[in-house]
Amino acid sequence: MLEIRPNCEHCGKELPNESTEAMICSFECTYCEYCALNLFKNVCPSCHGNFTKRPIRPKDEVKKYPPSTARVFKPKDLENVKQIIEKYKNIDPANR
Ligand SMILES: [Zn+2]
Ligand SMILES: [Zn+2]
Repeated sequence: MLEIRPNCEHCGKELPNESTEAMICSFECTYCEYCALNLFKNVCPSCHGNFTKRPIRPKDEVKKYPPSTARVFKPKDLENVKQIIEKYKNIDPANR
């Protein structure tokens, strides 16, 4: 089950369950759309997998399974992640 983390791990932007800007990788590294696509070029800086839009949990399910309130905030050093991005950004996610 997804944790539905409350913010962008890189820039700290609030990403509540209802946000349409939240993107996740297969490990649920969570970023806003700008960071995931513009800064990281659809390459997760932690696992080099791709991102997809995070689904929104329906209201009645949120009561039973509330989204996480634990903030993960680990801004990436863009110089460090540049190599990873350059290496993987043109490789289809299925072949990474
Ligand atoms: Zn962000
Ligand atoms: Zn990842």
